[in-house]
This record gives sequence, C-alpha cells and structure tokens, in this order.
Amino acid sequence: MRVGTVTEIKNHEYRVGLTPESVRELAVHGHEVWVQSGAGNGIGASDADYVAAGATITPDARTVFDGCEMIVKVKEPQASERAMLRKGQILYTYLHLAPDPEQTAELVKSGVTAIAYETVTGAGNTLPLLKPMSQVAGRMAIQAGATALEKAHGGRGVLLGGVPGVLPGKVVVIGGGVVGFNAAQMAVGLGADVTILDRDPDVLERLDNHFEGRARTLYSGKAALASLVAQADLVIGAVLIPGAAAPKLVTRDMLSTMKPGAVLVDVAIDQGGCFETSHATTHAEPTYVVDGVVHYCVANMPGAVARTSTYALNNVTLPHALRIADKGWRAALKADPNLAAGLNVNEGKVTYQAVAAELGYDY
Ligand code: NAD
Repeated sequence: MRVGTVTEIKNHEYRVGLTPESVRELAVHGHEVWVQSGAGNGIGASDADYVAAGATITPDARTVFDGCEMIVKVKEPQASERAMLRKGQILYTYLHLAPDPEQTAELVKSGVTAIAYETVTGAGNTLPLLKPMSQVAGRMAIQAGATALEKAHGGRGVLLGGVPGVLPGKVVVIGGGVVGFNAAQMAVGLGADVTILDRDPDVLERLDNHFEGRARTLYSGKAALASLVAQADLVIGAVLIPGAAAPKLVTRDMLSTMKPGAVLVDVAIDQGGCFETSHATTHAEPTYVVDGVVHYCVANMPGAVARTSTYALNNVTLPHALRIADKGWRAALKADPNLAAGLNVNEGKVTYQAVAAELGYDY
C-alpha cells in the first residue's frame, strides 16, 4: 500500500503522523511511504531523515492526498485537507467527531474510510490510543505547575522538592487515573508532599499499593477536598467522568481559602475543567490569576512536547497502521474488534453509534 503523511496545519500543532522510524517499519513491510517536505520539522526530523528511512519526499500535501491510499495524521483534517479526501482512501488520525458537525458532514460527503484514534479500544474497555497523551499531560502538569509556582510567574515562590531543612511543597492530585498517576509519579520523584484523591476504591487501592507511602491516597469527598486544597501549593485537576463534562470540584469560594500564589493546573480543561474558575488557555499565554491563585489551563498540553508526544503516539498507532497496510482495512478490522471500534465514517455513512446519535445520522 502507498501510505502518506503531511505537515499538520492546525494552529500550533507540531506533532507528525509518522516518525522516520515508523516509515522504516512500513518500508520493511513492503509499503511505499510519501512524506510532505518539512512534515517532521516540528519534532526535529528532517527530510533527509525520512529519505534515509525509505520515504519519498513530496513538495506539498496535495501530492500526498492525491497519491496515497492511506493518510496517517495527528489532528482531524482541516477544511482544506477534507476537500482532498476521496472514496477508497483511508484516513487514520484523531477525529473527535461528536462535537464537530461540519467535519463529520464533509467526511461523509467525501466517501473516505475514517478510523479515529480516540475510539480504538483495548483490553478491558480501555482507549489505548488516548493513553499516551494522558501520560504526557500528567507528567507535564507537574513541570508546568512547578514553573508557575516561581515568583516571576506569579507563584508563591515554593520549590516543590524543598531543600534539606525546608519542607517540600504540597501537591494535591484530584483524580487518580492515567493523568493523575503520572502527575503523582513526577511529584513524588521531585520529593514533593503528594496526596491523590479519587472516588473509585480500586483506583485508590492500586495507587496506595504502588506508592507505598510515598504518596497518600484519600477518598474524594467535599470536606477532604476543601481542607487539602486550602493547604496546597499545587493542585492538579485530573478527573474524568466518561461522556460527561468534568464536575466543578474546586469552587470559586474555595479559592479564598487557598494560599496566595498557589497554583491550579486543570488538565481536565478539555472536558470543561474541574475548577469553577477555569477557562482554556494556550501555550502562548498559559496562565492567568483569579483571587490570587494562578491557573494553568492549556487544552492541548502534549503539543508543547511535540517530539515526545509524537514518539509516544506512534508507539501505539503504528501496529494498527501496519496491519491496515498489510491486510487492507476490511480484513484488518474484521480480524480485530478493537481496531474496528475506531471506524467512525465509511463510504458516505457515519459508522460510530455515539457520533451518529449526537449528530442525527442513521446508524
Ligand atoms: P482516567 O479515566 O484515566 O482518570 C480519571 C479519574 O478521575 C478516574 O480514576 C476517576 O475515578 C476519577 N474521578 C472521577 N470523579 C472524581 C471525583 N469527583 N473526585 C476524584 N476523582 C474522580 O482519565 P485520564 O486519562 O487520566 O484523563 C483525565 C482528564 O485529562 C480527561 O478530562 C482528559 O480528557 C484530560 N486530558 C487533558 C489533556 C490536556 O492536554 N489538557 C491531555 C490528556 C488528557
């Protein structure tokens, strides 16, 4: 199969669908790979790196869209890209169609076979193609929070790890799933005083066993949350209620109980945020202050570490891409129900129930 990848054109998106290493794997399987010139610039991969891996460099995106049977991307196709899709072509990328009627309508019209990373499932009803981005965001949350705690960034001037003779900073992580676990790991690694709140007893037990006292766990009740937030230097919002907006767990009233210059990092901002005072920010201006408390609410945190994020994403997307290229999409999806769960639009029809229900398509 001829597989292609292009430069991402969504605002401030630096990741790329295929790394040079992924190109090499596809080439070893006997596939031809076309890469738009400059597609890897954002992750420090040059055209020469791609050529060395076996790719053919094309001058523009159109050549890739016109010439390739499968397009591998990161973000949903933008309007100019959607206009280049066609029946018989496979699009393999993040799509997030439910809140995006315009994109859905154009994908349906194009006749393309669109497989969305975010709905591909794994063992135990997991979403393995979303997980690496949660790992990145969780780890980055502590880095972002530590920076915001510096005086020059509006914080209270606390070093999370403390120093000999000075107590470490207090970190509270609300939600102990993938983001919360990775945030706690980083905070523990820095030597901070870490408490993780969750409502799921199995999650609390797993975290407690893992950290063996290096981080404490607590059931996420209103009183416990209020008292911990009041004492915290850094609070990480990492809750998720699948299919619903994030609950507003830290209210505006609670901010007045917090230490001036304390920091809130709302990783759940892509689901509306779990602090009442959160609104989405960008990497260009990631923080703002409400009632003396610094808020960091960047909705696409992994974009800031494009290289790490691209490699993490390729680790989980490439095995499926190889199977699709090797067998063709029909046989690959037939052989793997988890991959089949990724099919969102096919030959003029919405093929994912939740998207069809949300946007009023027959299913
Ligand atoms: P997850 O499902 O692995 O974990 C969520 C956890 O929240 C679960 O353990 C659940 O029990 C817990 N929870 C639910 N209600 C709670 C409550 N009231 N109190 C405490 N805990 C509660 O989800 P995840 O992968 O860790 O993702 C967390 C959030 O981060 C999601 O909204 C996700 O979309 C978001 N995210 C954002 C970015 C970004 O760039 N901002 C990147 C990746 C993920």
